[in-house]
Amino acid sequence: MTWLDVVAEDDLADGAAALFRSAFGGEPDGVWIAPGRVNLIGEHIDYAGGLVLPFALPYATAVAVRRREDTVMRAVSTRTDESWTGQLEEIGPGTPSGWAAYVAGVAWALQEHRIGGVDVAVHSSVPVGSGLSSSAALECSFALALSDLFGLAVDRNVLIDASIRAENEIAGASTGGMDQNIAMSARAGHALLLDCLDGSTRQIPIDLAASGTSLLVIDTNAPHRLVDGQYGARRAALDTACSELGVATLRGLPLEEAVSGLVDDTLIARVRHVISEIRRVELAVDLLDGGAAGAELGELMTASHHSLRDDYEVSSPELDSAVDAALRTGAYGARMTGGGFGGSAIALVPSDLVRTVADEITSSATRSGLPAPTFLIAEPAGSAHRFF
Ligand code: ADP
Ligand code: MG
Repeated sequence: MTWLDVVAEDDLADGAAALFRSAFGGEPDGVWIAPGRVNLIGEHIDYAGGLVLPFALPYATAVAVRRREDTVMRAVSTRTDESWTGQLEEIGPGTPSGWAAYVAGVAWALQEHRIGGVDVAVHSSVPVGSGLSSSAALECSFALALSDLFGLAVDRNVLIDASIRAENEIAGASTGGMDQNIAMSARAGHALLLDCLDGSTRQIPIDLAASGTSLLVIDTNAPHRLVDGQYGARRAALDTACSELGVATLRGLPLEEAVSGLVDDTLIARVRHVISEIRRVELAVDLLDGGAAGAELGELMTASHHSLRDDYEVSSPELDSAVDAALRTGAYGARMTGGGFGGSAIALVPSDLVRTVADEITSSATRSGLPAPTFLIAEPAGSAHRFF
């Protein structure tokens, strides 16, 4: 079984600073750190005006950054040999391509605030491309660095918006804003209830240990599939449903009303997922408000998975295998998390069963010829901050 070690913040910062010295020479002006996240419940509804309930992970991205006197930007990362050097004014949709779009895009989105050139070195403990939000961790750590280094007198919402624009417009990934919100607003020991209709948030205390439970994250290590278009297709289906129903949002619409107003079975299934998932988030928040994070919360998670698998059709054999194995071995509940089609699943597990559950998930993946997953334990961590 492979467990992903938590990297202490000073080691993470050291890694970024060491890369900075070897790539650029001299010392960075500072190091900024932002976390990855898991979404406890509320999947594929951020772009549908729904409610989501993510929390930050103790896995994070550190950026070591130094101001320059010109308008050049240079970016390097310990995850790739591919570096980028360019002028701030050449940044735009598709330029740069590749990973540097996520950092360059943030500088681009903040250009009206008179950002100058910078050198940036990245070091991360967030698995990349596993649905644990390495992209927002990168954008948000860098957005905070630019804000501090250039004395931007803006609140975090401006940095959240800049990070979202970087991802949507420069990196070309049309994701919702959940990841950037949690990276910037997380509080240790809390999940963040984010209302995607009006952008309001509420911190929800979550004490897994007090309920004797652990949240096991299962990175399926599934090979990346060609699913481009699936995400857009789901969003488009919801737009079609809204226009057929004559509503601006599915939020607040009773399920029976939505079902009776639609004819296409696939469309009905997609809408059923959205409306039922929003309800599950509300119920999960009620449970957490009451201090419960055990069997009942687990049931909601499992129902969420079935809805994503059957009605929304965004699961995968790897995710289903992990969820089924967890449930067979005593997990309170389990579900895919993130965009789906691979990536990660989560299981709410009585703490004394964590190893048994992880064992069975691994064996069952191996039996089915699937990649062996990587495991980590999620404990709600804090938000993006300056390390030094
Ligand atoms: P996730 O956010 O779930 O990890 P995404 O596909 O949204 O997956 O973002 C992953 C992309 O973000 C990577 O392909 C890469 O371009 C960029 N990225 C994230 N972290 C790093 C890093 N530490 N170094 C270089 N690129 C990174
Ligand atoms: Mg991402």
